[in-house]
Amino acid sequence: MSPPEPLESPTHFIRTRIRKEVESGQYEQVVTRFPPEPNGYLHIGHAKSIVLNFAMAAEFGGYTNLRFDDTNPAREEQRFIDAIKEDVSWLGYRWQNECHASDYFETLYEYALSLIDNGLAYVDEQDGDRIREQRGSLTEPGTNSPYRDRSAAESRELFERMRAGDLADGACVLRAKIDMAAPNINLRDPVIYRIRHQSHPRTGNDWCIYPSYDFAHGQSDAIEHITHSLCTLEFEDHRPLYDWLIEHLPVPSRPIQIEFARLNIDFTVLSKRRLTRLVEEGYVDGWDDPRMPTLAGLRRRGFTPQAIRNFCTEIGVTKSESVIPYGVLERNLRDDLNARAPRRMAVLRPLKVVLTNFPEGEIEWLEAANHPQDPEQGSRKVPISREIWIEHDDFMEQAPRKFFRLKPGGEVRLRNAFIIQCNEVIKDSAGNLVELHCSFDTESRSGQPGADRKVKGTIHWVSALHAVEAEVRLYDRLFRVPNPSANKEVDFVEHINPDSLETLADARLEPGLDQAVAGQLFQFERLGYFVPDPATSPEQPVFNRAVTLRDTWAKLEKALA
Ligand code: ATP
Ligand code: MG
Repeated sequence: MSPPEPLESPTHFIRTRIRKEVESGQYEQVVTRFPPEPNGYLHIGHAKSIVLNFAMAAEFGGYTNLRFDDTNPAREEQRFIDAIKEDVSWLGYRWQNECHASDYFETLYEYALSLIDNGLAYVDEQDGDRIREQRGSLTEPGTNSPYRDRSAAESRELFERMRAGDLADGACVLRAKIDMAAPNINLRDPVIYRIRHQSHPRTGNDWCIYPSYDFAHGQSDAIEHITHSLCTLEFEDHRPLYDWLIEHLPVPSRPIQIEFARLNIDFTVLSKRRLTRLVEEGYVDGWDDPRMPTLAGLRRRGFTPQAIRNFCTEIGVTKSESVIPYGVLERNLRDDLNARAPRRMAVLRPLKVVLTNFPEGEIEWLEAANHPQDPEQGSRKVPISREIWIEHDDFMEQAPRKFFRLKPGGEVRLRNAFIIQCNEVIKDSAGNLVELHCSFDTESRSGQPGADRKVKGTIHWVSALHAVEAEVRLYDRLFRVPNPSANKEVDFVEHINPDSLETLADARLEPGLDQAVAGQLFQFERLGYFVPDPATSPEQPVFNRAVTLRDTWAKLEKALA
């Protein structure tokens, strides 16, 4: 069902533990779930959890559910549900059941009634501030609510009225009756139901009371017979509450919760709240902006599912928090694309070159390999004519000695073609560079005696007559600092990198690239890996740079160190 794990995956404490349990016969199969709250798009941190959950179930003969934790109608939307399903599918995973915590609202309500009847929950009529004040602190025990000892019958009647819609938002809440002096604050009579006259994307106006996350999450796992609830470390302190609830409720199974460290990556933010702000306040072009760490953004940027799965496997699963360099994510993409992306030529910042000894009106078709290490990708014919475009950067008028690209009087090889020599630099009256006049060495083309003649530099080019005009977007880190949310005094948006998007309006691409569609991947030789943006069209081609050929940041950081 699920794709095999991509790399030889390093083992980790969760796998070791589950293997032991399975081998000792404790479980016949392992059932996991991925439980997103549909209040935003999935990001690369979620991918870590997805890969882990699907891998563990697949490895131990079970399956994984996709469960929407939709207990908070205020922030949840159908479009997020749709986007989450698209992203999990795109990563290559097939869930067994699509579940929704809201499907269990009736059961959860029954569970709440059973707690009340057993004297383990009560309706509290104090307001939220009062309840918070009574919680105590890490060093001080909490204070009992004056409603704590009201009769079960009275609580039941009030809770039924809460459900019936007789009471206003905030009039009262249902609380579990555990221990106001518990060292773990989560056990100090947590609120498990609130009144909220708000319609829900799935249940409409059926409910005006909603369970808390803590009251819904563990029970949903139990209802679905999840064997292992894998979650991030911040839920470790909630585990005693989940265990208490499971113990005191008539649930059909007992899931085990295991916590692991969440993924952090430098130069970005991985919190839905912050990502929502970037979108809503227009700092980026939507949830799928190619600079966003969302799966939709990474996909539009050119990331492959394979590269993301490889990354998630490489970083492993531990109990200690760490920050993964952004370059590790990019390296996984580069490695994947290097192996399979077909090569093409494209000029990002064009400079005209006239080949003065190339016959006017003639076109020559040159053989070019699609992939230097993969003969199976075959070759294509690339046209050349009297006028070509080369990269502006590949010419320097006052060039230092070590500049091996084109300079006045100098020679360079045109990739897949022949050697040219720069004879004349043409400028306008203001002294601006207009074009270069070069001659080519007919003996240096493939099949001729001079085909192997060595010159120091090779540059890419595109025939001016055939070039596809395109917009190319280059991306950089979205933030200028490694940890944009480190300092609580400074709003993280202050750290946005103003140069994170550079749009090149008149790039020239090899013919054929106007027909490329989103999802295709190319290496533009010497420039990096590029994909068509979803907005591309044969009339107005648009490409995104997924990643450069080398890690320029690593070099930069080394230089600064
Ligand atoms: P955020 O912190 O971005 O708001 P969340 O935890 O509220 O995310 P959920 O939709 O509740 O988002 O997350 C679904 C699952 O993904 C949870 O099991 C959560 O533990 C996991 N998850 C979320 N962020 C990360 C992360 N950075 N690394 C690993 N797992 C994560
Ligand atoms: Mg959450």
